[in-house]
Amino acid sequence: MKYIDEFRDGAVARQIGVRIAAEVQPQRRYHFMEFCGGHTHAISRYGISDLLPDAVKMIHGPGCPVCVLPIGRVDLAIRLALDHKVILATYGDCLRVPASSGLSLLKAKARGGDVRMIYSAADALGLARRNPQREVVFFAIGFETTTPPTALAIKQAAAEDLANFSVVCNHVLTPAAITNILESPEVRKLGTVPLDGFIGPAHVSTVIGSQPYEFFAEEYRKPVVIAGFEPLDVMQAILMLVRQVNDGRAEVENEFTRAVTRAGNLKAQQLVSEVFELRRSFEWRGLGEVPYSALALRGEFAAFDAERKFALETKHVADNKACECGAILRGVKHPRDCKIFGTVCTPENPVGSCMVSSEGACAAHYSYGRYEEDPIKTAA
Ligand code: SF4
Repeated sequence: MKYIDEFRDGAVARQIGVRIAAEVQPQRRYHFMEFCGGHTHAISRYGISDLLPDAVKMIHGPGCPVCVLPIGRVDLAIRLALDHKVILATYGDCLRVPASSGLSLLKAKARGGDVRMIYSAADALGLARRNPQREVVFFAIGFETTTPPTALAIKQAAAEDLANFSVVCNHVLTPAAITNILESPEVRKLGTVPLDGFIGPAHVSTVIGSQPYEFFAEEYRKPVVIAGFEPLDVMQAILMLVRQVNDGRAEVENEFTRAVTRAGNLKAQQLVSEVFELRRSFEWRGLGEVPYSALALRGEFAAFDAERKFALETKHVADNKACECGAILRGVKHPRDCKIFGTVCTPENPVGSCMVSSEGACAAHYSYGRYEEDPIKTAA
């Protein structure tokens, strides 16, 4: 298939691997974080780590929207379904995220909650149109990629005066999370997570463009290469990062030129800023409270804000003590460091959120059986 097969050519991937091995400098170690779960999935699925020399280690980042959803937000969705008796509409991956008291949205559905799996924000809007006698709440998650469709659904609901539709907004922002990682004690003070550069997200960058990453390159002296999700995209991005490190450069480079521009999608950005504003703070699983890292509905759209409509309050709930998701999302630990990985915790019975979505680090490692050396413990 055009635009896919040519980016999955194993022989070319091996050639790039050879080039990377030829260009890494002796005695030097290269630690790169792939921010996005889509890249984590590609690295595991295509065995990319096996093609890299020992000097290059990939560290998983927090860019999996289901993984970073804190338990308190899932509890809130469950309360809406079970106590407020709404039709709770959300994406499939959200349904199995473990919540408090052994519950998940799927288990809440088994207890009688009206929880519906949808494929898009427009599906949720359709549910509200077809069920005018019921309250329909869209539990919206995702980074900048899925935010514009949510904004569009809210604007459409306002235009149609659809009073039974509202949204729990969990949309989060990539640049705020990267800043949080770079400012974390593990990176800045302790040095337990050595970071020499980032692979920047693909889909997110089609919306926000490459420009927002320039700050990290300039301020923190960290190279960023935005890459597509195919294996050759990732290999090429790693080669570009190795070259930047060797040259002492810290720039934003764009490997994914077939979809990403510097400015991004201005129409989508305008739409999002019409409907949403920044939250002062938002809890991320693994990162804790991160200032100005998420969006909330603007006052003009308050009628469609489920948190206001149902007077909902998010409570902090600690993760399962055995679960290492928080440390994995910060790049401090590896899925194999979790004592219950692949035994008690499996994709069929996820204990933590990283085992739920295919973009989660634990699910990716479980599905593709990759057991490469731990990049953190082997850091030079
Ligand atoms: S294996 Fe399961 S319990 Fe362990 S860190 Fe991953 S998601 Fe959490």
